[in-house]
Amino acid sequence: MKKMQGAILPGNSTVELKTFDVPVPGHGEVLIKMKSSTICGSDIRCIYHEHLGKGPEGYQKGMIAGHEPCGQVVQSGPGCRRFKEGDRVIIYHISGCGVCNDCRRGYMISCTSEKYRRAYGWQRDGGMAEYLLAEEKDLVDLPDELSYSDGAQVACGFGTVYEGLEKIGICGNDTVLVTGLGPVGLATAMLARAMGAQKIIGIETLDERLDIAEKLGLFDTVLKAGPDNVRQVRDLTGGMGAERTVDCSANDKARLTCIQAARKWGKIVFLGEGGTCSFQPSPDIIHDQKTIYGSWVTNLWRMEELVERLVRWGIHPHDLITHRFPLDRVSEAYALMASGKCGKVAVVFDEELK
Ligand SMILES: [Zn+2]
Ligand SMILES: [Zn+2]
Repeated sequence: MKKMQGAILPGNSTVELKTFDVPVPGHGEVLIKMKSSTICGSDIRCIYHEHLGKGPEGYQKGMIAGHEPCGQVVQSGPGCRRFKEGDRVIIYHISGCGVCNDCRRGYMISCTSEKYRRAYGWQRDGGMAEYLLAEEKDLVDLPDELSYSDGAQVACGFGTVYEGLEKIGICGNDTVLVTGLGPVGLATAMLARAMGAQKIIGIETLDERLDIAEKLGLFDTVLKAGPDNVRQVRDLTGGMGAERTVDCSANDKARLTCIQAARKWGKIVFLGEGGTCSFQPSPDIIHDQKTIYGSWVTNLWRMEELVERLVRWGIHPHDLITHRFPLDRVSEAYALMASGKCGKVAVVFDEELK
């Protein structure tokens, strides 16, 4: 049997490289040669330091990590209907049962089958290995115009952002406020700009992240997180506040800033996971007719739509990658991502190594 290297997360802020058999695709499955596998904040939050998650967020010991994989099909099993050897593919990062109501809507993220819902890198092997076994129904075609490192970020990060922005609606009328300028916050600015937003304001605590946001030029203004943020945003918007606000930080104060710095009739979406949020319903939302949305990942058709639009807009998620590592240095990649002193961090293979 052919062997490969794969990375597991024992839960003590380390990464372990182990040898695995290269899987053989069964019915409706494909074997994918990994090309780019990016690290998500939720891997750090729920797995890397310690195994915190339960149920859909529960990492099963010994699983190959990584739920943002992208690669090329090298073998398709019997019964595959569309994807074949040589195809470049994005993988929707949760494999659902395919037949519950959520799966039928394309939201395999919230598949209700306890038996069949398995996220790549959590309850089934993920992308931090040379090969990945995937179900054909989880694949989205990666167009030639996009790189594998673009594709890796579509499933989790950019897909999640696109879904949230579609929920609140973004157009050229809007000033958009983004709190939390990690990879998800940066993706928010990139997509909001492409969707027409003319003025984008970012707020962040870490200086390294403020620098990266500034250098990427995705924002009109970046502000250090602080007690004056609501007033600062109002000053930048003629005293009115932002039409649309997006929290990518999961921080209680930042969420309150998103609510209070939104103008009358404004729309707010929460993407950052975990934590709490305290606000006063009457002055903060009810009297100003504001709406708060929650948004969790995206669905399959919207992911396909996003891929098509990335090509049309000529933008590249891979521009957010500040660090690339080969698989044998995967420990450094996770440690850097855990420090937060970076943009997006990727483990890459073959032509993506540069
Ligand atoms: Zn993720
Ligand atoms: Zn399902």
